Amino acid sequence: MSTEISSAPEPIDLLILGTQVVTMNDARDIIRDGAVAVRGSTIVDVGKSSELRRRYVPARTIGSDRFVITPGLINTHIHITGEPLTRGYVPDDTPFVENVFEWLCPLYSVFDAAEERTSGQLAAVEMMRSGTTTFLEAGTIRFLDEVIDGLVEVGIRGRVGRWVWDLPPEPSVYRQSTDAAIAHLDHQLRAHRSHADGRIAAWSTVVGHTTCSDPLWRAAKALADDHHVGMSFHMSPAQLDPDGFIAEFGQRPMVHLDEIGVLDANVAMTHVVRIDDAELHKIAASGANVVHCPTTALKVAYGVTQVGKFPEMVQCGINVSIGTDGNNASNYSDLMRATYLVAGLFKDARVDAQMFPAEKAFEMATLGGARTMLMEDQIGALVPGMKADIVLHDTDRPEWRPLLNVMNQLVWSADGRGVHTVLVDGAVVVEDGHCTTIDEAKLWADSQRMGEAITARSGLPDKAKYPTW
Ligand SMILES: [Zn+2]
Repeated sequence: MSTEISSAPEPIDLLILGTQVVTMNDARDIIRDGAVAVRGSTIVDVGKSSELRRRYVPARTIGSDRFVITPGLINTHIHITGEPLTRGYVPDDTPFVENVFEWLCPLYSVFDAAEERTSGQLAAVEMMRSGTTTFLEAGTIRFLDEVIDGLVEVGIRGRVGRWVWDLPPEPSVYRQSTDAAIAHLDHQLRAHRSHADGRIAAWSTVVGHTTCSDPLWRAAKALADDHHVGMSFHMSPAQLDPDGFIAEFGQRPMVHLDEIGVLDANVAMTHVVRIDDAELHKIAASGANVVHCPTTALKVAYGVTQVGKFPEMVQCGINVSIGTDGNNASNYSDLMRATYLVAGLFKDARVDAQMFPAEKAFEMATLGGARTMLMEDQIGALVPGMKADIVLHDTDRPEWRPLLNVMNQLVWSADGRGVHTVLVDGAVVVEDGHCTTIDEAKLWADSQRMGEAITARSGLPDKAKYPTW
């Protein structure tokens, strides 16, 4: 009797071929002439294409030696409403307080439900076309049901929630009492546990800064724990937050939030620029995640390169992931561009080329993002058993040639415009650079019409500096 076992090739749905497969697995293997095998929404194998071709019979094969394959990127802070349809209307020379209270808050308050739905779709399409497959929303302004409906149609993966706040100043259109804010979070977490096979679900989303009372902070964290989801908020981009906390509590923000039980491993805090060393150690001890939004820091002048402690955070073992924030503070939602800034800012600030190597920056955009989103076992790497969220980068482009060091190329040369094909949950959502799930021409037209209507309705002046005629 023969001892040789000749197993017949197994059927799979999809075989994806690439000149290099950047797995981001534990060993950080990069496989030349590699392939990824997909069944349904799941990766079943990753290896040499010659071997996978022997092992599997795919219903469909995509890719070729023209493509670099990576995991989908993870954008852990983006405003998908309020900002995408007002992109760039706010002048780029407005100081932080004026930016937030005289421009953004009034703009946010005049959206209707259809506009927020389209805004969410525009953000999702921009992300997917530039290689982001999963995002964490900063907070829908008002119309979460409509926004979720639009996201499900587009096919992206995300964690969302209408944001709440209970302390002034805030425009009356979304003013909430503490009880109403807590009731809203509770309802949102019950109503939106899972949509589209779990691709879209709600988190406990509060605005943060100095806009939350202690009862709201505590309740938002308790609700996140009860529902086994995360909690997100903004903190300390500028001196306003530490000053406010010291005036109110006699403590800096991280010390106070730690004392009332908010800092924890299921918490995602965005910005975290103005912290002292004691706060740094509170964050490290708590396991809380930090989201670095480099473009916002540059454009709104946070002083990140002067006072930011992101290198120290990484040294302390704090998980730092990357976000693109809102389109008036960061006018693009291309995480590859933000990753480039992450790699570069502290090299220059500390006059130290060892800061944030390309490999570390790309880890933050994938594995770090997965950890912030509490989805480490599902996304962020190309590993059997994980979700088939996959990006094919087109190397037939000038910035991709010659391809000699793929990690340097991904972070320092390429950007999202080189993304050719994107899969979420094993489904192709971008093909040849275009979103397949939505009528893009209609989206561009709707976005233009709505953006003009929203800015007109806001009553805010057009501050474009050049004469336009
Ligand atoms: Zn934000």
